[in-house]
Amino acid sequence: MPETIPEELTALRGVGNSLRERLQRLGVHRPVDLLFLLPQRYEDRTRLTPLGAVVPGRRVVVRGEVALSEVVYRRRRSLLCRLADGTGQITLRFFYFSKAQQEGLARGRRLVCFGEARVGPGGLEMVHPEYRVLAAEEPVALEQSLTPVYPTTEGLQQFRLRNLIAQALDRFLPLLPDWLPAAATAGYPALRDALAYLHRPPPGADLAQLAAGTHPCQRRLALEELLAHHLSLRRLREHGRRESAVALPPADALRRKFFGQLGFTLTAGQRQSLAEIDADLALPHPMMRLVQGDVGCGKTVVAAAAALRAVAHGHQVAVMAPTELLTEQHRRSFQRWFEPLGIGTVWLSGSLSRRERQAAYEAIGSGRGQVIIGTHALFQEGLEYRSLALLVVDEQHRFGVHQRLALMQKGAAGDTRPHQLVMTATPIPRTLAMTMYADLDTSLIRELPPGRQPVQTVALPDRRRPELVARVREAAGAGQRAYWVCPLIEDSEALDYQAAESTHAMLAEALPELAVGLVHGRMKPDEKDKVMRAFAAGAVQVLVATTVIEVGVDVPEATLMIVENAERMGLAQLHQLRGRVGRGTGASSCVLVYHSPLSEIARQRLEVLRQTSDGFEVAQRDLELRGPGEVLGTRQTGMLQLRVADLSRDAALLPAVQDMARELFASSSQAVESLIRRWIGEGSRYGNV
Ligand code: ADP
Ligand code: MG
Repeated sequence: MPETIPEELTALRGVGNSLRERLQRLGVHRPVDLLFLLPQRYEDRTRLTPLGAVVPGRRVVVRGEVALSEVVYRRRRSLLCRLADGTGQITLRFFYFSKAQQEGLARGRRLVCFGEARVGPGGLEMVHPEYRVLAAEEPVALEQSLTPVYPTTEGLQQFRLRNLIAQALDRFLPLLPDWLPAAATAGYPALRDALAYLHRPPPGADLAQLAAGTHPCQRRLALEELLAHHLSLRRLREHGRRESAVALPPADALRRKFFGQLGFTLTAGQRQSLAEIDADLALPHPMMRLVQGDVGCGKTVVAAAAALRAVAHGHQVAVMAPTELLTEQHRRSFQRWFEPLGIGTVWLSGSLSRRERQAAYEAIGSGRGQVIIGTHALFQEGLEYRSLALLVVDEQHRFGVHQRLALMQKGAAGDTRPHQLVMTATPIPRTLAMTMYADLDTSLIRELPPGRQPVQTVALPDRRRPELVARVREAAGAGQRAYWVCPLIEDSEALDYQAAESTHAMLAEALPELAVGLVHGRMKPDEKDKVMRAFAAGAVQVLVATTVIEVGVDVPEATLMIVENAERMGLAQLHQLRGRVGRGTGASSCVLVYHSPLSEIARQRLEVLRQTSDGFEVAQRDLELRGPGEVLGTRQTGMLQLRVADLSRDAALLPAVQDMARELFASSSQAVESLIRRWIGEGSRYGNV
């Protein structure tokens, strides 16, 4: 037996080139990866279930004698076999069957079957179970452990994968090194034991616990997986520190002019964040900083002030936002602020004509364009910056870590990289942020600008919708504006969503004296922008929208936010939507419209929003309530492809993860590299840095 696990998949018996290719599609590049390819679920073939004890929805092994076998022609021709064992009976239903099969299933035969029991027209049944006809006196051969069901790919059968993993377990598991500090894993099963257990749980293992992902063996692996991600992010940061960037000295004169024309003064949080940014920018290494601050706290102006430091010294700034709508808004803000200072802004929009785009590219290439605003179009093929020194990424949670780093690479010129300023309005509890944004330094803006009135939040059943129409009329009469948000754009009976299009029609009819606009995700960007602009200018007073307006849109005159189907949305998303109002000085309200009856979790969510308007509090409660993936957002967890761990469920592991990371960085670079390689793979999913 070798001392270490071989690197080549072909070291496994039966693996040639074509199988290797299929395994690679599953992310299995080395034999050791098979050990970490964990079952999605399990089947229990370790015991016989008496027919009398079969419960619908369970997949079970049953044995019995065929009491009746007949072909029926109700809606579809099918073969029905009644199986009985003295404790009860079940019907086996086959829609596809051969003559031979039919004869094999004749009355009096003894069978063993595996399948999912469900309630059929004539009682319990199994549709197309796996079965075997037993010879006289033949005992049923049961499995010794639960049967794992692995994620697989086309052309790779489950049994083949099982055999390969079994081979890997037998040959290589004993050689698998455990890199975690012993003290940190004292309360957990050993790594090898955990893997052995999860691939082959013994009869009687707690399937519900395994399905929930809370088994101690899963927690042991989750700990290691979270650690690996944390290490890879920290390593990125270490690398970043060693890279070079253009040091950007102060730009006091320009800053003074900028602040002088702003019309307001920065809040303490804004000033503090800017000071932290300034300290980073002065260094010849790329800044990697996250500014976290609730919706409306004024992150844009901080980014603009930061941009001045690049511009003042002849460099360029790219400002990237996730939607056209947001880039349009940034364009307006930056133009308003920068034009009087003689700074040239360029907007790279998908709606530019070919000629306009060409002109924009030229402005960027020549350096005339000093601040460039756009979506990821900012990094399109063929676009060359003259001297990009700062990249601002707004609403970070819409972009994955991976995407962000890829952009930073593209922004690199020679061996210098742009400074990076990332802004997010999604508040993240501290330990989560420290672990999952470990590649970034964090600044926090806790307060909103003065003069804002808290948004009054109420929840209302949808049968009281007519009252809302009156409220919209009232708001518009007072010169204010209203959002009416619906989750989907077309009526979908199945989902029973209140669709934006029908709401728009309803409101247009009920409020003929008002202009009612509509924006949704399927509109062309320029159509969307036109409506948004009309809303911002007041030509449209009521804006019906899907959740495309979720992030960042800033219309201070909007004072009423109505959200349909609020019970179906996550806390973070609702909080974001609410943040669209309360941006001016007028009193604002947010009405969460729900469809009765409310589930308990939905009721609690709405209650949290009624109780607090602090985004960090909302995030904390969200974590406790565990609306799936809401804290980091499904989108956000999408950026980390976790196999065992779940950031919300396993949040309690994070402090230990940080301690371990510190220890390993200090003591063993081999452990660091090996863990990253084991869980994240070659070159890391975060870009090859
Ligand atoms: P967000 O942090 O959600 O991106 P914005 O940057 O869009 O917030 O700012 C929201 C609004 O608050 C904008 O209209 C902005 O001009 C205004 N604003 C920002 N900072 C201040 C401040 N210190 N005092 C008053 N208004 C401010
Ligand atoms: Mg913003």
